[in-house]
Amino acid sequence: MNPLKAPHRTGIVFFPAFDWAISPTHPEREERLLYTRDQLFEEGILDVEGIEEFSPQVATEEDIERVHTCFPSTGRVVSPSHLISAGGAITAGRKVLEGTVEKAFALVRPPGHHARRVVHGLRGFCIVNIEAVMIEHLRRHFGPLRVAIVDTDCHHGDGTQDIYWHDPDTLFLSIHQDGRTLYPGTGFPEEFGGPNAYGTTLNLPLPPGTTDEGFLHVIDHCVLPILEDWKPDLIVNSAGQDNHFTDPITDMSITAQGYAALTRKLRPHVAVLEGGYSVQTALPYVNTGILLAMAGLDTGSLVEPDYQADLFHESERTREYVRRLSELMVEKYRNREALREKAFRGRTHHQETRQVFYDGEGITEGQKERVRLCRDCAGVVTLESWVNGRGRLLAVELPRTCCAACREEGVRAFGDAGLGDYALVELRDREVDRIERRSLFEEG
Ligand SMILES: [Zn+2]
Ligand SMILES: [Zn+2]
Repeated sequence: MNPLKAPHRTGIVFFPAFDWAISPTHPEREERLLYTRDQLFEEGILDVEGIEEFSPQVATEEDIERVHTCFPSTGRVVSPSHLISAGGAITAGRKVLEGTVEKAFALVRPPGHHARRVVHGLRGFCIVNIEAVMIEHLRRHFGPLRVAIVDTDCHHGDGTQDIYWHDPDTLFLSIHQDGRTLYPGTGFPEEFGGPNAYGTTLNLPLPPGTTDEGFLHVIDHCVLPILEDWKPDLIVNSAGQDNHFTDPITDMSITAQGYAALTRKLRPHVAVLEGGYSVQTALPYVNTGILLAMAGLDTGSLVEPDYQADLFHESERTREYVRRLSELMVEKYRNREALREKAFRGRTHHQETRQVFYDGEGITEGQKERVRLCRDCAGVVTLESWVNGRGRLLAVELPRTCCAACREEGVRAFGDAGLGDYALVELRDREVDRIERRSLFEEG
């Protein structure tokens, strides 16, 4: 492969988290990255001019708390490995915004896209949403950014969706195996964003067995036209690789070449590794394909060991489904203002209750969320969360640019909440990047 020069200067950040695992035999383990690293060395990719490796920085507690309310506290929920995984994503984003490289790929673990705003523990192998921590770090240090997150993990990125549900400056697009057939069971076209950010959450569920053809159809006919219209400053790819046909925990039929083609089309500034559990027969090849495609290098010779050219044919039914889904979502996106009017007209607030299951802890969280409908800002959000036997918290969020009426409502809700009712009360003021907190727990 050498000597070669990468048309796009591309950074790579590695963090395999040797000392953190859910259990020794769990599919989300350090070998996920070790085989990839061997493959990149073998192909000589780290010697290519224009491809540069960076050490991950360590995310601070402040970085984590800009996104998450952890219960009982950040220190008791978040491990050092999570700080470095999120820090690796931050390093990738910083290197791009500082202009050191044009693109960067954070090959880090543990993953993060199932981690929601409130964190009571491990769910879907995730605790810290590493993309969101990166994005909010970048906004704080580099100024306002219009960000598009395209989540191509096989599982719905429900955590990222939750974090950006009310944010009109962050477009979240998730392509995943249909939630009726896979964890976490969400991610349908009706999930379209909160009332002040309606149409900035877009879900594209695909049938099990979808091949490169259907996957790339959705990119060409739905994702790219929407991105072109929305004009993000920064495109982040939550690059989960569990759509690969050899992945042991999912049912899709995507190849390493499919992932490379996806990356060439999407042209993300930053890719962040999410899932992918076929440790030897997929990850090294898919990761290499993504990196080569980001760098603008040829991927023609990349073939994974189990690949058989005649194995993958899209069914007529899937072909028709992805065609219709793409049309439907583009149409919904174009009509989002009218749809918002129809769904929320005349209301001052919108309230939802929900349950969130933490498969890693075996606990269920109850949530009650209330957002003020606002035309002047993204709206104050008040979120109550409880786990029976553990405690109850109240998190109030003021948006990055907050109008006076929303600020007043948020400050009042925070002031009225006593430690008799809640073990933790937080006011997250995004405008000045400050958190006020009252807690029954000593640790911050
Ligand atoms: Zn996944
Ligand atoms: Zn407002």
